[in-house]
Amino acid sequence: MSKIGIIICDRNRTCTGGKCFMAIQERSGAFKKYPKDEPLEVVGFITCGGCPGERLEFAPAELKKYGAEEIVLASGFLAGYPPCPYLEDFIQYIENYVGLPVVVGSHPMPTNYINAHRAAGDWDRCGVQKYLGPLTDDPEASDRHDSTQPGFLK
Ligand code: SF4
Repeated sequence: MSKIGIIICDRNRTCTGGKCFMAIQERSGAFKKYPKDEPLEVVGFITCGGCPGERLEFAPAELKKYGAEEIVLASGFLAGYPPCPYLEDFIQYIENYVGLPVVVGSHPMPTNYINAHRAAGDWDRCGVQKYLGPLTDDPEASDRHDSTQPGFLK
């Protein structure tokens, strides 16, 4: 069994987490690296607390106490416009100080976000393309996570 803690961008503070949990179920997006036949436990799900990451100094350490072996910075860190400008600070702090590996991104990037960011060019400009591979390499999964598609959750 693997145990993870998920931190979401506070711009999505009212998010139900539905897309992350759907991706965990189907092992898509960043979660495809975890075997489907092994349990994946989410020990906590919390927002960053708002720019520049009010909860950063406490939340990852707390998630570690609850058993997290890895911290997932949810896809919202990259889906918002612009992507989180503190992303590298989050990664450095969690990996070097808290002592847990970080996964950037959670559920597949919804198709409508992929189209918007490609048109805006910010993913290139902000240097986050390196995190987008597992989130954008499955168009069908991206369609399934796009809440603007007529068949969403049907
Ligand atoms: S942009 Fe970054 S620091 Fe600001 S609310 Fe979102 S995740 Fe937190």
